[in-house]
Amino acid sequence: MLAPQAAPVVEALTPHDLVAYFHCPHEMELTRASHLLRVGGPLGPVRTPTNVVPLHHSPLFSPPLGNLVVNEGRLDVSEKDLLVYEDEGEDDLPVLFPPDRVRPDIRFAGNRSTLGDPELGLRGRPDLIIQRADASLVPVEYKSTHLFVGYHEAHGRLFDTIQVIAECRLVEAAFGRKVPYGIVLYGDESGGGIHEGWVRIPYGEAERSWLRVALRQVRDDHERAPVPAERNCGGCEPNSRGLCQFAATRYEGPHHRLAMYSTLRG
Ligand code: SF4
Repeated sequence: MLAPQAAPVVEALTPHDLVAYFHCPHEMELTRASHLLRVGGPLGPVRTPTNVVPLHHSPLFSPPLGNLVVNEGRLDVSEKDLLVYEDEGEDDLPVLFPPDRVRPDIRFAGNRSTLGDPELGLRGRPDLIIQRADASLVPVEYKSTHLFVGYHEAHGRLFDTIQVIAECRLVEAAFGRKVPYGIVLYGDESGGGIHEGWVRIPYGEAERSWLRVALRQVRDDHERAPVPAERNCGGCEPNSRGLCQFAATRYEGPHHRLAMYSTLRG
């Protein structure tokens, strides 16, 4: 009699993994491998072969963008909206609600704040989750470093769309509630709100399908090839640590990518 076969282990991925893969698959691989370095440990295994042929573009195709709703100014929350989740690991999140409308879901408080989706093998923590008046849930991703001004020119913000689609799925799976859309909120610490804005990203069938195919594509990619280009490498965190042998330029800082994409479009 044959022994029962163990179910194959699905590689756990995060919304950040998808964003890194969309820049450069090798960046995703190095970022994951370098987690232990931050606490003085060794670099983890990297699957990219040393003789890999670099790519000109990431193999991941773009998510649907046709139904984004772009809004200038402050994010409006109604008196019936509640804040039900906040990533406690982030200390620069905006205060959108008065204390009496902050009602954290205790299932995801403290050290249980990482949301998990066993079906798709996703894990992660949105910045905020708002419960709307109709009881639907909406994840909010806050970008304090990306001003809203120039939004339409900076197609680098595709990356923010990818992150929010994955967070919509995470929230839906973890809370077991409908998530109709997610929000990217662009902050403005220095301009008194004049450069603020937010983008509503629908979470419908097209986005769900894109996410499933994207996760499969990342997991099926056994090379995680580099995409060396100034627009990528100048803002690549593993490059700042000198970990990439394929880098096209030196590390310039976290704002480099948005500036590069704006320049390329402008
Ligand atoms: S330095 Fe460039 S090629 Fe290397 S991992 Fe980063 S983005 Fe990819």
